[in-house]
Amino acid sequence: MLVFKFGGASVKDAEGVINLAQIVKRYPKEKLLIVVSAMGKMTNKLEALTRAYLHGEEEETHQLFEEVKAYHFGILEKLFPDHQHPVYNDIANSFVEVDWLIEEAPDDAPDYIYDQIVSIGEIVSTKIVAAYLSLDGSNAKWLDARNFIQTDNNYREGNVNWEKTEQEIQHNLAPVLEHQIGVTQGFIGGTSENFTTTLGREGSDYSAAIFASCLNAQSLTIWKDVPGVLNADPKWFDETERIPQLSYHDAIELAYYGATVIHPKTIKPIQNKNIPLYVRSFLHPEAEGTDITASENQLPVPSFIFKVQQVLISIFPKDFSFIIEENLSDIFSLFHNHKVKINTMLNSAISFSVSIDEDPEKLQKLIEELSVHYKVKYNTGLELVTIRYYNQQTIDRVTVNKNILLEVKSRHTCQIVMKDQTTAA
Ligand code: ASP
Ligand code: MG
Repeated sequence: MLVFKFGGASVKDAEGVINLAQIVKRYPKEKLLIVVSAMGKMTNKLEALTRAYLHGEEEETHQLFEEVKAYHFGILEKLFPDHQHPVYNDIANSFVEVDWLIEEAPDDAPDYIYDQIVSIGEIVSTKIVAAYLSLDGSNAKWLDARNFIQTDNNYREGNVNWEKTEQEIQHNLAPVLEHQIGVTQGFIGGTSENFTTTLGREGSDYSAAIFASCLNAQSLTIWKDVPGVLNADPKWFDETERIPQLSYHDAIELAYYGATVIHPKTIKPIQNKNIPLYVRSFLHPEAEGTDITASENQLPVPSFIFKVQQVLISIFPKDFSFIIEENLSDIFSLFHNHKVKINTMLNSAISFSVSIDEDPEKLQKLIEELSVHYKVKYNTGLELVTIRYYNQQTIDRVTVNKNILLEVKSRHTCQIVMKDQTTAA
């Protein structure tokens, strides 16, 4: 049993879907489950639509919805020249559910509404892919991930009930895959009351890992628009290298610090079952990519993860007490309550400093609450670089023309918060 995951970039147009079908044909003898994300940038668009709807901007909501529909029907036209094909009706019916929802003023909790709307991206993408695979001669079956991935009702960030999920997958999914290629959605799950949940942005990798783990798959392959895991993002670094072999441990560390190639939650489930994860290029399916396995090998080269728009917050207790357990637990729970993720942190006797992604709305509320008991200083417009397997030379290289505000080192990882001097005011 192989599990394949195709992200939005791989199915952003009709050619992408045709390419996916060609990749599937390279594995005629294998049992396959294919996990697919929403097409192209549809999740962003559906997010914008949800926001508009929640803000009561009717015209904007309908405009965005028309764009979502037009985009998918544009792809259908190219893939299914025969307009009588049942997929047209199927997709139209899926959209009707959103139509009904946005007809009425928002009444339910925003996160719940978000999940009911945004999940439609995955529903329609998989219907299109499954229908095309069948047309193309593969014995494909569309499967509703909400019947298998069982979550609680923590909308937008559903927590997986592993026991139930494993049961559903083993009893009701595995038998189907004996005879048919399964096509299902990443990113979405269902509650015990059959409401739709999502697992957090970019969560399709995680879905694929859950399926692979519960199916005891032979391997999981994530098909990407890059040749594999690189040691840095080409967006920020001129010279990048593909990493041919990566340990689960290093993969988790890189993903955790923000390497966007794999979702951080992906590795653990497959590591527990010792299932290899292959990262491959959907443009060059024959090429080697990155194999992530239990190997003990360290990364052959230092790896860099770069984040911009960082805010460095320094927190000082107003009563001049030291930063000790009590203050820290207070501070952490404030971050937790505001759903603000800490990218790096450092404490001294009288201050605690953290770097976070800049989100003006969240930042303001967080600072307000922190300010009740603490003196708070912060600095915006910063950069954070994380170097895995650093040495002085690599640190020097990334800090040219930068003012270093914070540096945190562990044995293998160094994190630096800095300000670009060339843009500094
Ligand atoms: N479509 C979802 C997103 O863009 C999930 C994913 O692509 O992994 O966040
Ligand atoms: Mg995506």
